[in-house]
Amino acid sequence: MAAVGSYDLAVVGAGVVGLGCALAAARRGKRVVVIDRDAQANGASVRNFGFVTVTGQARGAMWRRARRSRDIWAEVAAQAAIPILQRGLVMTARRPESVAVLEAFLAAEMGEDCRLLGAGELRLRQPDLAGPELLAALFSPRDLRVESREAIPRLAAWLEERHGVEFRRGTAALGVETAKVETTGGLVEAEAVAVCPGDDLASLFPDRIAAHGVTRCKLQMLRLADPGFRLPAAVMSDLGLVRYAGYAALPPAEALRARLAREQPEHLRHGVHLIVVQAADGRLVAGDSHHYAPTPDPFSHQAVDRLILDEFEAVFGRPAPAVEERWIGTYASADEPVLIDAPMDGVRLAMVTTGAGASTGFAIGEEVADGLFGGGTAT
Ligand SMILES: Cc1cc2nc3c(=O)[nH]c(=O)nc-3n(C[C@H](O)[C@H](O)[C@H](O)COP(=O)(O)OP(=O)(O)OC[C@H]3O[C@@H](n4cnc5c(N)ncnc54)[C@H](O)[C@@H]3O)c2cc1C
Repeated sequence: MAAVGSYDLAVVGAGVVGLGCALAAARRGKRVVVIDRDAQANGASVRNFGFVTVTGQARGAMWRRARRSRDIWAEVAAQAAIPILQRGLVMTARRPESVAVLEAFLAAEMGEDCRLLGAGELRLRQPDLAGPELLAALFSPRDLRVESREAIPRLAAWLEERHGVEFRRGTAALGVETAKVETTGGLVEAEAVAVCPGDDLASLFPDRIAAHGVTRCKLQMLRLADPGFRLPAAVMSDLGLVRYAGYAALPPAEALRARLAREQPEHLRHGVHLIVVQAADGRLVAGDSHHYAPTPDPFSHQAVDRLILDEFEAVFGRPAPAVEERWIGTYASADEPVLIDAPMDGVRLAMVTTGAGASTGFAIGEEVADGLFGGGTAT
């Protein structure tokens, strides 16, 4: 069969991980094609908070990836006209055990540049965080927030215009071998192939994916009406301190976990924690929950939304604004946060197997490009 195109790199998947691989290769001057079965971006990469989270990522490789990815987001956002809507994180604490976790975080290298504010200073600086039980908050300047549903299409368009990356959308990859991808649109030849399938665990290299114990995680998300105030930074709460490994692995997190198990057992049972971010039009995105299954149910449950809104009300000290939109998203999940596998010569399988692809995808793209083409990434 004659090939429909020939490239240095073929990327399967136009989510943030696939686009990260495309960028890293294009910056080396490689000819890149991105293949995606959907007509437009539709996966986790456009369903998330767009929260490029450094603060709270696990120590070590994830921390490094998040810092590198944040720097690339900042560079690319400026060039691709992607607005950075918020900067930093306010991690609020309503319990002494939570304050102890934040103090331990501040004492570690991950807490550099962060500040812990007591209740009085917090109210002066951020009066809209009016929950009566708030004791303190960590302010971190490190994180960024983009509106993913706009940022991902703009990033793809910029890769096309600025770097000559080609996109074959509405095209499923049916099989991958060294130097070729069989697709529903014909055979694509490429010196190297990066498979970035998000949470599709069944179509390409299912045995390799299964060997890493990958399942899927479903999250419920809410868009809330403009509350009439502006949040310069993303906001989180106590529940996040036992979910994000950068805090949860610290020794004081154990006492917090025990207290939350007594006081908020339903939140823990549904994996609910709070992230609140704000769009340019003032509306908020609030979430989320975590339910794990190979095929999670596709429904949004009111009782779970209620838990998210309860946590919102505890932090903001006011009724949550009206819910204007509800959606679910799913991502791949495993014990290890990232899977980069080499199933064949010149082929890489790359998946973020925790909820951190927006925060680490660009760095993972560089790791994949280094593995396939060698050396460091030129900018
Ligand atoms: C609700 C929600 C909130 C989140 N919040 C955050 C956050 O704030 N910060 C953060 O860092 N992370 C967050 N995450 C995680 C993050 O969104 C994901 O880790 C990331 O988007 C994964 O990117 P991806 O490119 O691997 O997958 P996806 O975005 O799912 O893209 C995979 C693409 O591959 C395509 N594809 C798969 N198989 C084939 C095939 N055989 N042929 C052709 N195309 C194929 C799919 O069509 C899809 O477009 C969140 C996730 C969810 C669901």
